[in-house]
Amino acid sequence: MNILVINAGSSSLKYQLLNPETQQVLAKGLCERIGIDGRFTYKPEGKTAVKEAEVAMPTHNEAIKAVLDALVDPANGVIGSMKEIDAVGHRVVHGGEKFAKSVLITDEVMSAIEECNPLAPLHNPANIIGIKACQALMPGTPMVAVFDTAFHQTMPSEAYMYALPYEYYEKDKVRRYGFHGTSHKYVAQRAAAMLDKPIEELKLISCHLGNGSSIAAVDGGKSVDTSMGFTPLAGLPMGTRCGDIDAGILQYLMNKYDMDIDQMLNVLNKKSGVEGLSLVGSDFRDLEKAAENGDQKAELARKKFSYEVRKYVGAYAAAMGGVDAVIFTAGVGENDHGIRELVCEGLGYMGLELDKAANNVRGKETVISTPDSKVKVLLIPTNEELMIAIDTAALAK
Ligand code: ADP
Repeated sequence: MNILVINAGSSSLKYQLLNPETQQVLAKGLCERIGIDGRFTYKPEGKTAVKEAEVAMPTHNEAIKAVLDALVDPANGVIGSMKEIDAVGHRVVHGGEKFAKSVLITDEVMSAIEECNPLAPLHNPANIIGIKACQALMPGTPMVAVFDTAFHQTMPSEAYMYALPYEYYEKDKVRRYGFHGTSHKYVAQRAAAMLDKPIEELKLISCHLGNGSSIAAVDGGKSVDTSMGFTPLAGLPMGTRCGDIDAGILQYLMNKYDMDIDQMLNVLNKKSGVEGLSLVGSDFRDLEKAAENGDQKAELARKKFSYEVRKYVGAYAAAMGGVDAVIFTAGVGENDHGIRELVCEGLGYMGLELDKAANNVRGKETVISTPDSKVKVLLIPTNEELMIAIDTAALAK
């Protein structure tokens, strides 16, 4: 079964054609600068050719058309015809409280996704455009929506409610939703496989540390708490996002510097996090280099980030009444052994001992705790496309 996975943004579109049963990726690539001049990248797996071209893409329709043309191209294509695409899985950022699972897309589902637009105004409308473009070009092919928020819909109310007047929840849907759900779900399932235990018996803490970062407490395979909130600004400090701060700071700074709320949020989303703190940048490789060269702010940014991750590990162990394994995933979690070491420092009291030699690894499934460590530490590369393809195949069958 071949599944086309589409992750559509406002001016870009990532795609991958894969077989969820064999986990074989047939081709993948990226359409960028949609609505501007259009740049197209196509990489068929197992072939050396990488096509990079300027393709006119006034809208997402032309972008999807370029993807389909490349996939069936006689020279560099990977399938004989579009009929060999059995279903399309679409990443959708926000499913609100409506979607606790992936769903087959119908007209009703499209309306329900549109109703979630105010909750993710930058993302959901782009996801919808991607779905409509595919529907226009591939009528009759089953389409599935896989939501970033769905996995976290199992959180109990004490975890998802904010202590605000209740009407803001009832009338305005203000609550914690959480994101990165597809990634947290995937690595939790892989952790169970690595530990050779049923997921129902495991208490896991999943640390998705990338440009955007979030942590999830996964008890018995269900998300019971997560660090991102109503928006992806909450929780950990990130590349350029501040994470949790005292809301009173907004009033103080807005008054002092005569900023409106949009200017303030621009600072919190784009000028804060480890970049704001270090003045070096948002990429952890740059921070590491600068810290090695004695840059104290870069060192502070790495320590602050790791400290907050460690606090969440403690908090979620408390929330679940224990923890069997801590998982590191995403760009920083998979690659930055120094950050993993800083996070795990001093967690011996809870039975967690990192194996420093085993930790000197990147990007492959590895147990990085000592053989005696009661709490296992796992490095698991995330694979959101595979998770989307698995859900899509199951629903399309
Ligand atoms: P996102 O999907 O949120 O954009 P990723 O999960 O791809 O982000 O993570 C990207 C980040 O991973 C980069 O900004 C960088 O900080 C970090 N990263 C990638 N490779 C390395 C590496 N070798 N060492 C340290 N950090 C890395």
